[in-house]
Amino acid sequence: MLTFKNRTALVTGAGRGIGKAIAETLAREGVTVVCVSKSADSCGAAAAVITQAGGKARALAVDVSDGAAIAKAAEALLQEIPLIDILVNNAGITRDGLLFRMSDADWNDVIATNLTSCFHWTKHLARPMTRARWGRIVNITSVSGIVGNAGQANYSAAKAGMIGLTKTLAREFASRGVTVNAVAPGFIKTDMTTEFVGKPELAARILEAVPLRRFGEAADISSMCAYLCSEEAGYITGQVFTVDGGMAM
Ligand code: NAP
Repeated sequence: MLTFKNRTALVTGAGRGIGKAIAETLAREGVTVVCVSKSADSCGAAAAVITQAGGKARALAVDVSDGAAIAKAAEALLQEIPLIDILVNNAGITRDGLLFRMSDADWNDVIATNLTSCFHWTKHLARPMTRARWGRIVNITSVSGIVGNAGQANYSAAKAGMIGLTKTLAREFASRGVTVNAVAPGFIKTDMTTEFVGKPELAARILEAVPLRRFGEAADISSMCAYLCSEEAGYITGQVFTVDGGMAM
């Protein structure tokens, strides 16, 4: 059991996959969770699962690739809940393709959704954390941002950018008791990876590069994330935790 002192979290991309698991894990620990996703149905369903299980959650539909939409949503939210103690920047997309075939739109959408969204959410929610002298920010990056991945120039650049942002903000916020860390998943079974995981031949080839010989579950990421958000992780900041079955050793 981890320690959380009546905290409130905002988790982006909480409608499905890893973000949904993070929201549910935090809620089980007694954290009130604001579940953000692009579609109202998706975050609404995720928040409903939490409340039906006895947890505290609300849904907030925001397109995180739109900085003005984040500003509007964050402003309204802070009117109601003046302090969000925990921010998990998890929303992400892929638009894969080799560089020569990658369109400007695919580059821009991936950078805006995965990276620029972290800048905007943090800018709005971190100030009250610094005033309260306590806060936790966790950015969900990727092994692709550490070692690169052919066909993912946009995604790898965005995820590597998140690591630079994490380390810089860890330095900027450290004196205020706000920690900033990143989690870098490998291949996790979610909607994002069904095209790999669902094809036996391709899946077997990928698993040859994974020493633990299995794909990760969303819970493998959410447990690491919950730890980083807890009281117990107060002396950890500016770090990137790879959770990938040993793939990028
Ligand atoms: P997923 O199953 O595809 O879910 C993505 C979530 O992000 C959804 O809830 C989606 O909202 C939300 N989202 C996407 N674009 C958005 C936007 N513009 N505005 C608001 N919300 C948006 O993905 P996942 O596999 O759980 O991935 C979660 C994070 O982990 C991502 O950052 C991803 O890059 C990272 N990651 C995943 C893996 C993996 O193997 N799965 C590996 C490394 C890193 P809707 O539900 O409304 O569509």
